[in-house]
Amino acid sequence: MSEFHIIKKYFSKYFRNKFNKEILGVGDDCAIFSAQENQKIAISTDMLIEKRHFFSNTNPYNIGYKSLAVNLSDLAAVGAHPIGCLLSIGIPTFNKEWLFKFSKGFYDISEKYDCPLIGGDTTKSNKSIIINVTIFGNIPNTKSMKRDNAKIGDEIWVSGVFGEPDIAYRILSGQIHNIDNILENIKISLEMPIPRITLGKELIDHANAAIDISDGLIQDLNHILEASKVGANINYKAIPISNKVIKLPENIKKYAVLNGGDLYELCFTAPLHKHDTIVDIAKQLNIKLSVIGNITSNTTLKINGIEKNYDINGFDHFK
Ligand code: ADP
Ligand code: MG
Repeated sequence: MSEFHIIKKYFSKYFRNKFNKEILGVGDDCAIFSAQENQKIAISTDMLIEKRHFFSNTNPYNIGYKSLAVNLSDLAAVGAHPIGCLLSIGIPTFNKEWLFKFSKGFYDISEKYDCPLIGGDTTKSNKSIIINVTIFGNIPNTKSMKRDNAKIGDEIWVSGVFGEPDIAYRILSGQIHNIDNILENIKISLEMPIPRITLGKELIDHANAAIDISDGLIQDLNHILEASKVGANINYKAIPISNKVIKLPENIKKYAVLNGGDLYELCFTAPLHKHDTIVDIAKQLNIKLSVIGNITSNTTLKINGIEKNYDINGFDHFK
């Protein structure tokens, strides 16, 4: 099967402008969309490599789903609304079933979040599958939720519950045992994360700084602290842990909660006077939002008052 047949068969659902008349999609030299007045464009890109970001035997539907989910999550972290995405894929062999399932997973989440696939590139790779997604979003001109804007006294909030994806990953990679067959219940959190798009858009008027948790709470919160030149005091007990992992040994849970990656929940900071508004947003969106600590002036990250050396823990590809 040629490159062109693969594109036509698996990635041309929005050939030219089928999805949205305003957008020129797959099938021309460039995808084209209009820049709206009073809006900025947010762009992000993420690469997923077989055996590094996903196991070779992972359901291809879930791989397709996740490869767009993690990019949508980056839009969520700045409060952007999705416009569309590009998918570049390198595959070592033509595998009909794999491509069918992968593209189905990709299109399912793309439709769920109104983020059409408007272009990309398809090529043969040497050994592993390589996936790169680039995403575009809209953001109101006057607003921003960035890593460098946390203010002393802000409350530190997180969405969702912690622990599942890291424990699923460590069971799948043979680092810990599948105690009580827990994997079956938590694998979905690793393979199909929920991008917090609606939450991000709501928070843009209220939060000062935000990040999505991809490399672990400590490491990602630290990106906010360093960029904003502030510190934080975290109350460990206030971090919500998933009921599904609650019975596991404390050391496994603690690692997953503080350092576990692949969570894709938002961590954000907001002034105290926004507390009630944020509680209302949580109710309205039916998303769990919890205050886990405060921003401080001393530029260190403390957990229950004890300074934490974050550097040695969170995920880093080159360590
Ligand atoms: P070019 O030679 O101009 O780079 P290609 O032959 O690579 O064009 O691609 C043809 C069309 O198909 C382009 O519109 C491109 O954006 C789109 N395309 C290629 N691969 C993919 C893919 N994996 N997903 C979505 N669109 C794709
Ligand atoms: Mg090309």
